[in-house]
Amino acid sequence: MGTISIALSKGRILGETLPLLARVGASPMQDAEGSRKLILATARRGLRLIVVRASDVPTYVANGAAELGIAGGDVLAEHGGAGLYQPVDLGIARCRMVVAARRGFDYASAVRQGARLRIATKYLNLAREHFAAKGVHVDLIKLYGSMELAPLLGLADAIVDLVSSGKTLRANKLAAVEEIRPVSARLIVNQAALKTRRAELQPLIEAFARAAQGRAGNSTARK
Ligand code: ADP
Ligand code: MG
Repeated sequence: MGTISIALSKGRILGETLPLLARVGASPMQDAEGSRKLILATARRGLRLIVVRASDVPTYVANGAAELGIAGGDVLAEHGGAGLYQPVDLGIARCRMVVAARRGFDYASAVRQGARLRIATKYLNLAREHFAAKGVHVDLIKLYGSMELAPLLGLADAIVDLVSSGKTLRANKLAAVEEIRPVSARLIVNQAALKTRRAELQPLIEAFARAAQGRAGNSTARK
């Protein structure tokens, strides 16, 4: 049995991923948040963590550089998911993908009037599909972060981005004007690896599914 790698990112997802890793007996052997290492051994023999940029997780897994990964539904939808199975919704890093605009901007009437909208986002594919499905003409502007600035500086009429509490939008005088989809993180698996190494991967997938369910159960019990 060879080594199995789980690709994950250090950003927002990691804090909620660590308790799941603990439940599957795969806690990192070092402080994952503090360490600068990009490959971390875990308490589970033969299982290691590969730390990559959030948007790179599907690429590592689809190409078989890691057998497993933990990625946001936003990143997966933008990637397209070719070569990946997505067997477990982990229920963590929940947020919503929305269209947001300046509080004074009448998005609904701009759409009704068939205006051409400038949309800033890091999710070009998702945004293109969303507006095409609505029949709205858009010029997409690719950004890599701090999307909230674009409407304030006149770079765009609106943005496509993630929100959870809405605090960042409010702090920047923006408001969500349309829901695109709910987002949460999922366990992803390289399709070819699942065929050739099913005996090793299937128990891990089931362990993650149980860990995620346990989480859901806990939060219901606490109500
Ligand atoms: P990066 O800045 O490298 O894109 P982040 O750590 O900001 O990485 O985001 C990583 C993932 O965390 C996103 O792909 C998304 O799935 C999730 N995420 C981002 N923002 C939020 C949020 N406000 N609430 C919950 N989950 C979020
Ligand atoms: Mg970010």
